[in-house]
Amino acid sequence: MKGCLLSRGFYIETMGCQMNAHDSDFMAQSLIDSGFVPVSSPEQADVILVNTCVVRAKPEQKAYSFLGRASGIKAENPLKFLGIIGCLAQMKGADLLKRFPQLDLIMGPRELSRFPEIVKTIDRPSVKIVATHLDPAPPCHIPGHGCLRKKVTGYVSIMEGCNNFCSYCIVPYVRGRETSRSPKEIMAEAVHLLSHGVKEITLLGQNVNSYLWKGRGGRQRRNFPDLLSELSTLDGLLRLRFVTSHPKDLSDELISCFGGIHNLCPHIHLPFQAGSNRILKLMRRGYTREDYMTLIQKLRAVKPDIAITSDVMVGFPGESDQDFEDTLGLIRYVRFDSLFSFTYSDRRGTAAEQMGDKIDDLTKAARLNTLQNVQKGITLEKNKELEGKPAVILVEGGSKKGHQLSGRTDTYKIVNFIANDRLIGSLVNVKIKRSFLNSLWGEWISSVLPNSQDLRDFGVM
Ligand code: SF4
Repeated sequence: MKGCLLSRGFYIETMGCQMNAHDSDFMAQSLIDSGFVPVSSPEQADVILVNTCVVRAKPEQKAYSFLGRASGIKAENPLKFLGIIGCLAQMKGADLLKRFPQLDLIMGPRELSRFPEIVKTIDRPSVKIVATHLDPAPPCHIPGHGCLRKKVTGYVSIMEGCNNFCSYCIVPYVRGRETSRSPKEIMAEAVHLLSHGVKEITLLGQNVNSYLWKGRGGRQRRNFPDLLSELSTLDGLLRLRFVTSHPKDLSDELISCFGGIHNLCPHIHLPFQAGSNRILKLMRRGYTREDYMTLIQKLRAVKPDIAITSDVMVGFPGESDQDFEDTLGLIRYVRFDSLFSFTYSDRRGTAAEQMGDKIDDLTKAARLNTLQNVQKGITLEKNKELEGKPAVILVEGGSKKGHQLSGRTDTYKIVNFIANDRLIGSLVNVKIKRSFLNSLWGEWISSVLPNSQDLRDFGVM
């Protein structure tokens, strides 16, 4: 099998969140293990896969357009293998074959553990595979996963699915109910990444702070703070991060981890979605704006310089001018480091789809524009405050502009600077010289030796 497939190429188009990027890495590794090689365009590939997202209308349309293009490529060469993976595959299932009969594989995210087996059938593309069960456990990504290229940062998925059913969200329908992976499996995957040169690990899940492992008879019970504590002791782990957290599950115990775990980065992504209590209730988010503000106060009490990023949606059904003003008010109160902002779009089968009083597109666009301008001002101000100050950067690689290195602060801000390539993978001290909306410009000062006094001086330990 391996021999006859040698030098056949694969191309994976990835849309959506970090979970999808992580799943695409897993598929790529499975293909490489079976003798395939990555190529840079679908036209060159023998295996074309698209990993999809349906959280909003835009990525869904993008996936259809990619499938149209890929179907055309396959029509010219029927021996190619065409597959759709991810949330759109889960949502539409076999119905996709009506619109895209060229598809060989339709696979939901919970069936991903079957992918390595399916790779073995890729040379018999006449068999259509539809795999959309929601029961399977998330796949174990050992061996090799996440280590396709020499990476400084790596991801470990700790749980899959969501039980919250926010009224606008399709995720619980396409990724199933929450399932936490065993700490043993998570630790083994983290150790594997570290042994391949990874220095920073981000724990992934739709709602990581509701992570709960009970073990047999509840005897090995671990919650998310327990897991963070265990992982933080791993040799060679310079930085630990997690994403995404739900405000209603952010416990005092977890907040205190930011003060007590030396390598847990001072950054939290905490989606608030709306600043109006009326809209938050319609969204079924399970907290009020006052609850959210209290969480921010508690986080800043434990870690005054913690970076806070978030997701917000405008134009939810029934959102009034006053509701929107409340959202702007919350943004001004918190002063987020950055925000992902979106307009509401109906997702089929969700409770919000059935709600009346939909907001027209022009109003949604105007509100989004206003909100983004408010946040741009805050982000620029916050970045400006860093000018002239030192920062410790984990160097991740060359910057997009070339002849420069790029890395991140522990608060997840991108810093570009000029220094020697050999610093990739290490912590360095820089002085921030200039600030922009999406990045900072730094001047290299010195390297940081892990466990040295330097780390303490720079607040890393
Ligand atoms: S918490 Fe809400 S928004 Fe997040 S994935 Fe679950 S249902 Fe969707």
